[in-house]
Amino acid sequence: MSSVAQVEIKGLTKTFGDVTVVSGLDLTVEDGEFLTLLGPSGCGKTTTLRCLAGLEDPTSGEISIGGEVVAAPARGVLVPPEKRRTGMVFQSYALWPHMTVRDNVGYPVKLQKLPKAELVSRVQELLDAVGLGDKGDRLATELSGGQQQRVALARAMAGRPRLLLYDEPLSNLDAKLRAVMRTEIRNLHREIGTTSVYVTHDQEEAMVLSDRIIVMDEGRVQQCGTPREVYSRPRNRFVADFVGFENIVSGTVTDRSPTSSPSPPTAAAPRSGPRARPPSAPPCPSRSAARTSASAATPRRPTRSPAGSPSRSTSAAAPTSPSTSAACG
Ligand code: ATP
Repeated sequence: MSSVAQVEIKGLTKTFGDVTVVSGLDLTVEDGEFLTLLGPSGCGKTTTLRCLAGLEDPTSGEISIGGEVVAAPARGVLVPPEKRRTGMVFQSYALWPHMTVRDNVGYPVKLQKLPKAELVSRVQELLDAVGLGDKGDRLATELSGGQQQRVALARAMAGRPRLLLYDEPLSNLDAKLRAVMRTEIRNLHREIGTTSVYVTHDQEEAMVLSDRIIVMDEGRVQQCGTPREVYSRPRNRFVADFVGFENIVSGTVTDRSPTSSPSPPTAAAPRSGPRARPPSAPPCPSRSAARTSASAATPRRPTRSPAGSPSRSTSAAAPTSPSTSAACG
């Protein structure tokens, strides 16, 4: 049986006209997990998130939250967004400009018709949690971008949703504030523990925040794993390239037998710190199991490595300079 807020997606497909933007996505998000959909612009991340929220109807497939089927078009099930008990944080904050910070955060609680005292204390608790305890009486528009996004975060949590959905919430903030907010989101998640699905195209953000990352391209899952797995063992060329490895060397696997000695290299070694994937490494999930692209070191830009830096001696795609550890559940 599903846990309280486990999310199950089976065969999710979404088409707009004759364009398929999400194609047969299968995914389980565990109760309390922080999962990130990572991929380039247009790969279908936001569409997937919107299908979870009920803002978009899937073309086919099924979505369940906490064991309740919320979308199954073939069976005529499409639970409206307000009945899914999800909270959403948008890139654009989407606050009500004419309302105070307190009223913005209190709105979802008000809809639940809770006693006033409970509403007041819950709102204050959340404002304190996001560091805005003394800003409740201000108009939302009188705050900075980072503060507005904190209000949006508190509002998304106020209705005690069983699932929190984040659509690139930090994209409008400057680099320094983004780093601060990442830590705050991660800490809040640790405290509150709501199952969370986060969308970003920023691999560093995904690495720092997530328990697990789904790397997507063209509406399909390219890799699913912990930040450490994705970073240290990208499963194919697309993932290696996307997480920032520069030296990608094409090669042909000629023998997978564990006892045979490695074949001579078929491609020139890259200039710095090359480590081709050994022949015994798992094949990339491309159509042909016989051909693989081995990726090697040197991320394009310095990234934080996920918790517990990968062992360079066992990893073909290990970074040359793993730096700070990120919080990873
Ligand atoms: P980004 O990071 O740029 O937001 P994304 O991975 O979240 O990208 P989506 O927003 O899911 O991508 O969009 C996937 C594709 O679907 C894009 O090509 C987009 O143009 C298309 N698309 C999204 N919504 C619609 C719509 N309502 N009608 C037609 N096409 C759409």
